[in-house]
Amino acid sequence: MARILTGIQSSGRPHLGNILGAIKPAIELSKNPQNESFFFIADLHSLTTLKNGVERGEYVRAIAATWLAFGFDYKKNVFWRQSRVQEHTELNWYLNCFTPFPMLANATSFKDKSEKLSDVNAGLFTYPVLQAADILLYNANIIPVGKDQKQHLEMSKDIANRFNILAGEDILVLPEPKIDERIMTIPGLDGQKMSKSYHNYIDIFLPENELKKVTKKILSDSKQLEEPKDPNNDITFQLYSLVAKESDVETMRQNYLNGGYGYGHAKQALFECFLEVFAEPRRIFNYYMENTEELEGILVEGEAKAREIAQETIGKVRKVLGFSS
Ligand code: ATP
Ligand code: MG
Repeated sequence: MARILTGIQSSGRPHLGNILGAIKPAIELSKNPQNESFFFIADLHSLTTLKNGVERGEYVRAIAATWLAFGFDYKKNVFWRQSRVQEHTELNWYLNCFTPFPMLANATSFKDKSEKLSDVNAGLFTYPVLQAADILLYNANIIPVGKDQKQHLEMSKDIANRFNILAGEDILVLPEPKIDERIMTIPGLDGQKMSKSYHNYIDIFLPENELKKVTKKILSDSKQLEEPKDPNNDITFQLYSLVAKESDVETMRQNYLNGGYGYGHAKQALFECFLEVFAEPRRIFNYYMENTEELEGILVEGEAKAREIAQETIGKVRKVLGFSS
């Protein structure tokens, strides 16, 4: 039996990149009866970039509703908010003391973020250690993530290994990343990695008129309507090819190459495709966003299950470190 674990930060509403890069592949894996899935909302992580508590609460609900909208079976699996299981922060501290400083200093995602964000805090720097705690608390072996997380997963393994050497036994399970090579890093409106914290994302749950407006904002070059266009160098086409049917993607490719087809046409086709492909998830998402008590009940139920497992691991770790009798 494989234990799968993945988390999404509550630093914004979940976007197309999170959905295609993490949520959908993770739910597919969770459908295998051989697998047990642990999906959590990384609300502690979101504090690195988001300080407003009211917004965080809203985003937590949106992320929970997104998992459910894409068919996550919370009864069979474990689904919780990171902050409600305090063992995450406890293990985080212990693991901090097993993490070499240069390992964190070389993290590319820290470098990327610290160049783009104005608030470069210590939490952002030690983020991979909390992530290691999230994974190692639950003895997870498979971690489905986007390519951006590959290096962090290597760090989790390395940190677990250092702890196990001290313990003299394999107390922490070494995780394996599962990166679907077909899923690239989904580009945002501006062509950079689509990210909540870069505000360049497409929220597929927006009301129709707003979703249309956002789709129109996708960056394109200045080629005129009649000119042929390069589909391989265009964000709208790239996004369309990730969500539309193969035959429709081919049609759009030909339209680009032939010319007489403008970026406005492509964006309209992408918008319509979003509405069609995500009709059912949009309906379920709105249901849970309106029925927040039901959503809260689901999370509380998951938290009890998560806590039980986390406490078992932390008990072993405390013992090794001499923090328990
Ligand atoms: P933040 O900007 O706060 O880091 P984010 O948008 O990068 O937010 P995360 O919560 O960090 O989202 O990531 C959740 C999951 O979604 C991870 O598995 C990550 O690999 C995946 N993911 C995030 N952005 C993308 C993207 N643009 N393309 C593919 N996968 C992505
Ligand atoms: Mg991220």
